[in-house]
Amino acid sequence: MAQRTEGSLVDSKGRVASKLRVSVTDRCNFACLFCMPDKGKVDWLPIQDILDFPGVERVVRTLSELGVDEVRVTGGEPLLRNGVETLVKAIADIPSVRSVAMTTNGWFLAKKAKALKEAGLGGVTVSLHSLRRERFGKISGADALPRVVEGIDAAISAGLSPVKVNSVAIKGYNDDEVLDLVDFAHSRGISIRFIEFMPLDGLGIWSAENMMTGKEILEKVSGAYGLVPMGRKKGSTARLWGLPDGKSDFGLITPMSDPFCDDCDRLRLTADGKLLSCLFDTQYYDLKPLLKGDDAALKRFIIETVRKKPDGVAYMPWIREGWAKPRNMNAIGG
Ligand code: SAM
Repeated sequence: MAQRTEGSLVDSKGRVASKLRVSVTDRCNFACLFCMPDKGKVDWLPIQDILDFPGVERVVRTLSELGVDEVRVTGGEPLLRNGVETLVKAIADIPSVRSVAMTTNGWFLAKKAKALKEAGLGGVTVSLHSLRRERFGKISGADALPRVVEGIDAAISAGLSPVKVNSVAIKGYNDDEVLDLVDFAHSRGISIRFIEFMPLDGLGIWSAENMMTGKEILEKVSGAYGLVPMGRKKGSTARLWGLPDGKSDFGLITPMSDPFCDDCDRLRLTADGKLLSCLFDTQYYDLKPLLKGDDAALKRFIIETVRKKPDGVAYMPWIREGWAKPRNMNAIGG
């Protein structure tokens, strides 16, 4: 087995990277209004620029030798990428990778849940922003609510664990459904996380006024449920609360109102092979040329990239005001 170099992925603030989000495509069959540009105005990455599976596997293996042990496959819509379960298996088979999870819109999940489980996928997070069919269609650009719910149930039946729901609550769109969404997750014994709307949307509709803050969501949920505080694990994006009866938990991801950059342990690999050490960074580091060379050069480049990790969104007030947008969320990999 390859040597793991302890502490190699340390940035200038002393944070150690141990988690990786791998985007396998920027393409999506939905068009969520807080993520994608207008239909017809999407500049998809050219197919020839997309990193092939051996390339992705090599990057993940190299990162795992440097200390990364949790991997999440995402996109765009990861289940749009042909044969993604073979990539999941290849990653799950890397000895130092402890867990492989996926974030998906759920459209193909009923069909794929069993194969993903067999490939070694651990948890799956399904995005669900409304329980009203018409509204779901408006938010996601797809009349897909029944099929997404079927996907969530198939993931539970297949034994994927944990199964979580991700919701983005936006004022004037779905802020009146916070409790319904919590009830939905609670009734199935699965977790739910609300992510604050970030100015990484293709339509440019983000504003400090329409973003529902974690505090506002918490007020709604704690008024209806006796919540049990569970805190935030170091490096985790979510602050958690247990729901009554301990069947499920509720979490808040608050990159805008209460960022968690000081112990961020995450890296991202975009579908076109670029390494990103901060979701909000505008600087992307291309690994593709390095894949033509040896592991030592690739490792040196990755270590250098991590050293340059920005302090975080907490130190980029301009981002909060929506002035600078690196890429849209679908092209970064959420
Ligand atoms: N297609 C998959 C999905 O729908 O879950 C995976 C990719 S999506 C970019 C990953 C997550 O990012 C989703 O849960 C989505 O709700 C979230 N997301 C996208 N744009 C966002 C934004 N502007 N602010 C906050 N979360 C966002």
